Amino acid sequence: MTQAQVAQGQDPLLAVRDVSVVFGGIVALNGVSFEMKKGHILGLIGPNGAGKTTLFNCLSRLYQPTTGDILMEGKSILNRQPSQIAAAGIGRTFQNVALFPRLTVRDNIRIGGHSRTKSDIISDALKLPWVRSEEHDLNIKVDEILTYLDLHDVADREVAGLPFGTQKRVELGRALATEPKILLLDEPAGGLNHEEVYSLGDLIRRVRDERDITVLLVEHHMGLVMSIADHVVALNFGKKLAEGTPAAVQSDPDVIKAYLGSKDA
Ligand code: ATP
Repeated sequence: MTQAQVAQGQDPLLAVRDVSVVFGGIVALNGVSFEMKKGHILGLIGPNGAGKTTLFNCLSRLYQPTTGDILMEGKSILNRQPSQIAAAGIGRTFQNVALFPRLTVRDNIRIGGHSRTKSDIISDALKLPWVRSEEHDLNIKVDEILTYLDLHDVADREVAGLPFGTQKRVELGRALATEPKILLLDEPAGGLNHEEVYSLGDLIRRVRDERDITVLLVEHHMGLVMSIADHVVALNFGKKLAEGTPAAVQSDPDVIKAYLGSKDA
C-alpha cells in the first residue's frame, strides 16, 4: 500500500480553515480552506498573485491571518512565533535559499539540528555530560543527512561558492535536521535545470516515503507538481479555485481559464 493510500481516512495533519489575509485594501487570501493528510505531497498552485506565498507565509508563521485558523494535529498554530515552528514540527525552505553563506555545509545543517537540542549558551560553556551526549547525537544526525543528500564531498566547504542546486540541497538538509512532520517547500524547482528538477522530484518523493514527512509544495513548475503531488489545491485571486487529484485539477475548466488568462500560461 502506498503512503497516499494509508493516508485515506485519517484525520488531517494540517487544516487550513477559512483563512483570509488583507494587506491594507488588498485581499491576498479570501476564505481559503483545505486539509493535508499525513503522508501526502500537496501541491499548491496558481497564477502570479494568486496568494500562494501569502498562504505559505501564514503556515510558516511569518504572516498572521486576518481571519480564520490553521490547525496542526487539531491544535491552532497561530499562537506560535516563526522561531517556534521548527519545534512544532514544521520545516521550511526558502525560494531564494537562505543559508549562512560563510559557514560550511555541515554547520548550516547543524543549525537546523540545534532547534531540536536542549542545550543553551551556559550549559554549552560548562560542557555538561548531557550536552556532550547531545552534541554526539547531533553529529551522527548531521552525518546521516549529509550522506542521505549526497553532500559528504562538500561537507566542509563554505556554502557561498557552491552551485545553486547544491545550495538548495543544503537548505533541504537544514530543514530535515529539524525533524519535521511537515515540510514546506517554496518553489524548490526555481533556478534548476531540467535534469535537476527531475532528481528533485525523486528526492521529495523519497523524503516523504523514507522519512515519513508530509510535504506542501508551492511551485510554478507544473510538470513537477503533477508528477509527484497526491493532491493539488489551485488558488486564483486569493480564493480556492479547485482541489483534487493532479489529473482532475489539471483538466478543471476554471483552472485552465485562470492559467490562460495569466502570464504563466
Ligand atoms: P507569485 O506566484 O507571483 O509569487 P503568489 O501566488 O505567491 O504570486 P502572493 O505573493 O501571495 O501571490 O500575492 C497575493 C496578493 O497579495 C497579490 O495581489 C500581492 O500583490 C499581494 N501581496 C502579497 N504580499 C503583500 C504585502 N506584504 N503587502 C501588500 N500586498 C501584498
